[in-house]
Amino acid sequence: MIMLGPQGSGKGTQALALAVRLGLAHIASGDVLRAARSGGTPLGNEVRRYMDAGDLVPDEITIRLLIDTVKAREGTSGVLLDGFPRTVAQAEALDEALAQQGKRVDKVIELLVPLDVVKQRLASRLTCRTCGAVYNTLTNPPQVSGVCDLDAGELYRREDDYPEAIQKRLAIWEEQNAELTRYYDAGGIRVQVNGDRPPAEVTEDLVAVLQDSDSPVTGR
Ligand code: AMP
Repeated sequence: MIMLGPQGSGKGTQALALAVRLGLAHIASGDVLRAARSGGTPLGNEVRRYMDAGDLVPDEITIRLLIDTVKAREGTSGVLLDGFPRTVAQAEALDEALAQQGKRVDKVIELLVPLDVVKQRLASRLTCRTCGAVYNTLTNPPQVSGVCDLDAGELYRREDDYPEAIQKRLAIWEEQNAELTRYYDAGGIRVQVNGDRPPAEVTEDLVAVLQDSDSPVTGR
């Protein structure tokens, strides 16, 4: 299963909740790439340059790292991909890798959130340096400013959550997403859910829409 949506649409939060509810392994491309870049290897340093500038990491690197991660979960009952694929080349590579294992993408879920809402969410997002928990200074602040509720880790603003990088990331997303949704529409497996509502409501809608595969749009 694949989760699509702009950065800040709640994709990561929903993917995590859905993976737990449905018993799927959750793979977030941002986490996989951040882990690669923290290694300090030449590959990691290259990944860092693209990520910090708010650019997409080149397909060749992303495909290699993500397909390896998906293959490592081969034995699980299913995988929920969050942030990958982001380009048609990545989607094609994924389909090919899955086909080699006699598998396929069952469902593509698109979270719909207006871009002005997303921009505001990203600009007020804080992330825990230790456990990766995500807060929002406006809608979901930590109990103590700058400190994670879960493990007292330091909260920081991601390098790509500053206005210039946000603008760039969303512009790239709009362009790539149009191509990607056309690609998946051909397979008739895309469903849309309104993500501009309280997180728990969105999760319930996602579960419902996945159980009723004839329903293309919910929560409007
Ligand atoms: P995210 O955590 O999903 O917002 O991703 C953070 C950054 O990781 C993006 O701005 C890109 O630089 C990189 N990234 C994540 N997923 C991909 C992907 N599928 N293709 C290329 N770059 C990606």
